[in-house]
Amino acid sequence: MVAKSWFDLREIHPGVWSLSEPGHLEEVISYLVLGRDRAVLVDTGMGIGDLRRAVLRLTRLPILVVNTHADFHHCGANHEYQEVAAHAAEVPRIERGWSPEEVAEAMLPHKIWAPLPAGFDPGEYRVEPSSVTRLLAEGDDIELGGRRLRVLETPGHTPGSLCLWDEHNSILFTGDTLSPTAMSAAGSDSDPEQLLESMTRLAQLAGEVARICPGHHQAPLGPDFLAEAAEAVSRVRAGVSRIEPAGEGFVRHRFRRFSLVLPGQVEEPALAVPDTRPPVPKKPAARKKGKTQSGRRPAGHAPSR
Ligand SMILES: [Zn+2]
Ligand SMILES: [Zn+2]
Repeated sequence: MVAKSWFDLREIHPGVWSLSEPGHLEEVISYLVLGRDRAVLVDTGMGIGDLRRAVLRLTRLPILVVNTHADFHHCGANHEYQEVAAHAAEVPRIERGWSPEEVAEAMLPHKIWAPLPAGFDPGEYRVEPSSVTRLLAEGDDIELGGRRLRVLETPGHTPGSLCLWDEHNSILFTGDTLSPTAMSAAGSDSDPEQLLESMTRLAQLAGEVARICPGHHQAPLGPDFLAEAAEAVSRVRAGVSRIEPAGEGFVRHRFRRFSLVLPGQVEEPALAVPDTRPPVPKKPAARKKGKTQSGRRPAGHAPSR
């Protein structure tokens, strides 16, 4: 069976389209932002569907691809475009590409639930290298003609993660720095403290942001997400978040709508919750031996780097 379309295209604001890929577990979302003279394609998805063709249905303007960061599922169709912009720290991975072995896990059957596009062979899946033609840094403006996107450096998830801020239209494109299900500093080049700082920085735009466009799952998010992100950072820093194991050396801090994966360890119990039981009276004969009552850490505490 052949998929009708791998992409779900929606105009979420005049001149701003989301191109989501709901058939894959990652549910990655790219965005097409139209100006008068050219368009920006924020990320290029998995590289499973024909993104170029989907974009051509929406515009014939020249396209500048902007990668929010260089995780492969945001760079899948980069190679189909001449103009690619990214932060310098992300360039080596974008220009090296990803071999079939490196991305084979994305093709596991349980991760794909929509029919694959005709002609796509999961056994051949790879992400081609692409050339970065423009380096982006804090404060740079990308002019589209009647629309401008400002670059905000938001390192942490990766060193060169960036967000794009369309101030005139109050739209914030956040890549994986703000995401509706999980934010992560579990990558080999992630920096957890920087991620928390970047989340805090974005939260300071509350009051100006009307729509948040993340790199996965659901778009757009409302501005209330910024307050929730700020609250999550506060709770992590205060050591009062609910945590559970998230793989070797990492913990997942659970919040109402999303989680935050950071370095740390859950000792016991597996799910740390505040202990509200009244203290058990000590036996009068018990002698102190210089030990604490138990080896447990305060509930919810997670060490940060
Ligand atoms: Zn990512
Ligand atoms: Zn991602």
